[in-house]
Amino acid sequence: MTEEAAWAALLAELDSWAEAGKRLELWLRDDDATVPSDQLDRLAALAERFAIPVLLASIPMLAQETLARRLETAPLLLPCQHGTWHRNHAPPGEKKSEFGLHRPLPEILAEIAAGREQLRELFGCSVLPVFVPPWNRIHPDVAAELPGLGFGGLSCFRDFALDPTDGPRLVNTDLDLIDWRNGRVGRRPGDLLAEMAASLATRRGEPGADQPFGLLLHHHDHDSTAWGFLTNLLERLSRHAAVSFSAPDMLFGAAMDLD
Ligand SMILES: [Zn+2]
Repeated sequence: MTEEAAWAALLAELDSWAEAGKRLELWLRDDDATVPSDQLDRLAALAERFAIPVLLASIPMLAQETLARRLETAPLLLPCQHGTWHRNHAPPGEKKSEFGLHRPLPEILAEIAAGREQLRELFGCSVLPVFVPPWNRIHPDVAAELPGLGFGGLSCFRDFALDPTDGPRLVNTDLDLIDWRNGRVGRRPGDLLAEMAASLATRRGEPGADQPFGLLLHHHDHDSTAWGFLTNLLERLSRHAAVSFSAPDMLFGAAMDLD
């Protein structure tokens, strides 16, 4: 399928959403922020151009004061906590995770709380009470303790699920723009579009269709392919009747009041 055909297929799928009276809430999460950069400026400019706020997952123990100063003039980049050190504690051969149960639970919770403190010192009350675990992995036992640490919200990737009766409000991301295995480059637009269209087609027939659809960004790693795709996607989707852009603080809703 050519890239143009892939765009046409995605837009046709969205037309089906409109015909079915369904709306797609699109939102943006960007991970690993620590310092200001040209790439961060580019993200801020994109957020302003399309009036779409971005959840900016920032690493507490690596984030610099200069980032906090930069965000003062980037009101659409909304910081939240991305792990604590962004360190892997899983043994070799296991998938990377900072918050699996590889250490005693009290130690893990103390570390998350220390990260929260650090981020509040940096960003003040502008930090949203949402936790984004590095590599999108967190043990359910750790996740269940997040509200007690002041986090009303949690964001991971795609199929990650929690017992819905308890714990933080979970809003996942669904499409990762980066190809991590082949040199951290932007994934081919045709592949991203096909994946998004397929996932929306499945979702259209399901009861949970109204779940927000999150794009997972890493501004630091974006090449021209990733920036080009993102800009194109926002441009085309902003004109589509079935799509609305959602603000992270609205998505997590009442979970914001925990603090
Ligand atoms: Zn990360």
